[in-house]
Amino acid sequence: MVVVGAGYTGLWAAYYLRRADPTLRVAVLEQEVAGFGASGRNGGWCSALFPTSWDVLARKSSPARAMRLHRAMQDTSHEIGRVIDDEGIDAQFQRGGTVTLARSPAQLSRLRDDVDMAHARGFTDADQRMLDADEAREMLAADGVLGGSFTPHCATVHPARLVRGLARVVEASGTDIFERTTVRSITPGRVETDAGTVRAEVVLRATEGYTPRLEGHRRAVAPVYSLMVATEPLDDATLAAIGLGDTAGEHRPTFSDGRHLIIYGQRTADGRLAFGGRGAPYHFGSRIRPSYDGEPAVFEDLRAVLRGMLPQLGGEGDGVRFTHQWGGCLGITRDWAASVGLDRQTGIGWAGGYVGDGVATTNLAGRTLADLVTGADSDLVSLPWVNHRSRRWEPEPLRWLGINAGLRATQVADAEESWTGRQSRIARMMAGMTGGH
Ligand SMILES: Cc1cc2nc3c(=O)[nH]c(=O)nc-3n(C[C@H](O)[C@H](O)[C@H](O)COP(=O)(O)OP(=O)(O)OC[C@H]3O[C@@H](n4cnc5c(N)ncnc54)[C@H](O)[C@@H]3O)c2cc1C
Repeated sequence: MVVVGAGYTGLWAAYYLRRADPTLRVAVLEQEVAGFGASGRNGGWCSALFPTSWDVLARKSSPARAMRLHRAMQDTSHEIGRVIDDEGIDAQFQRGGTVTLARSPAQLSRLRDDVDMAHARGFTDADQRMLDADEAREMLAADGVLGGSFTPHCATVHPARLVRGLARVVEASGTDIFERTTVRSITPGRVETDAGTVRAEVVLRATEGYTPRLEGHRRAVAPVYSLMVATEPLDDATLAAIGLGDTAGEHRPTFSDGRHLIIYGQRTADGRLAFGGRGAPYHFGSRIRPSYDGEPAVFEDLRAVLRGMLPQLGGEGDGVRFTHQWGGCLGITRDWAASVGLDRQTGIGWAGGYVGDGVATTNLAGRTLADLVTGADSDLVSLPWVNHRSRRWEPEPLRWLGINAGLRATQVADAEESWTGRQSRIARMMAGMTGGH
């Protein structure tokens, strides 16, 4: 078997394949180093969020099968925690749930609608519940909190420690990871790399946002950038004033608020705040460049949004320092549907299109790929995302116009809801999409 891409998807697939059948010969080919992609640089929300909307899943299959997929996602963060423990991966995994704050009346009513909708679908307070203003502030003492919602179905993880640790475990199990090996094309039984041809019965594509670079896949996925900043480690007094867990750093919920544009944060194990959002534009022709990982205006706005949410951080001159900033590309399919599958005729499998919800979903994908390849008749292979095919994106310039118009629509919606000119400017600058990170 050949797996193309050594991010979470490729590594989880290799991990579960070898466990299912230790006689399988598995090679992972990676253009840079294991964890180079989004898996090594994400926000570390190991959540039960799934990128495809409930309505689309339920329409395509049934509400009961949509629920089965969501329950499988809830189980997945437990599975990741189990493997991390069993394999001794030091990924700073801890389960603290997610708190989503409402900081305007519109956000509060949207959160209430979300929770009501979830309950109408069969979820309960044990999955997602409203918080009054005091409860929400107790979890995260942000400015202007009117209420919030909470789900326990999320853990925080150090993303790079997880992916590098997983790579070590996969190698130790007898799988070769060939780094600095770029795959140019995948055809049945054959993978062309810049270093030669590899033949294999089964080839699994796990290239996510970088997929358009593969021959014949230019319009399969749109690479969209998400950017992050991180503070220096906060002192005990500042942490105590902010919340997000106890003094021992346990029970740290990930956090967001109810605006349309995606923002996401976590208090890290070493007491920093790592905080991200969408905002970088989609680049014409699905181009990916290292320089796109850093948009100074977006970094500046992320810092301003976090300082605005949390006055405890102080001002730019005399407050807490931001010490890190970075970004990376994630993959979006034309119908915003993630999928995992194997074409038995060609022996080519794939998984991806997670938008910004891949940390846990990639594990479900890896287990599902292993079952598909080994022919196991498991509950996973009948989940409604299996073998789904998304249609291709439009050719340029339509793709560029469509995606960036979507970004702008989100930005305008937030600007209209925001209370102050400053917030409105931030919302304008940080155009983002709903769903994912
Ligand atoms: C800034 C940021 C924050 C995010 N935050 C979160 C979050 O908090 N929670 C969450 O659930 N999700 C988050 N995501 C999304 C999540 O990180 C991804 O969905 C997930 O990591 C995808 O894993 P992957 O293995 O499929 O892809 P990747 O990690 O991108 O791995 C693909 C790998 O394939 C390699 N590759 C590509 N093409 C080739 C080729 N032709 N030849 C050889 N190798 C190739 C790449 O180098 C890369 O290492 C975030 C993403 C970003 C960018």
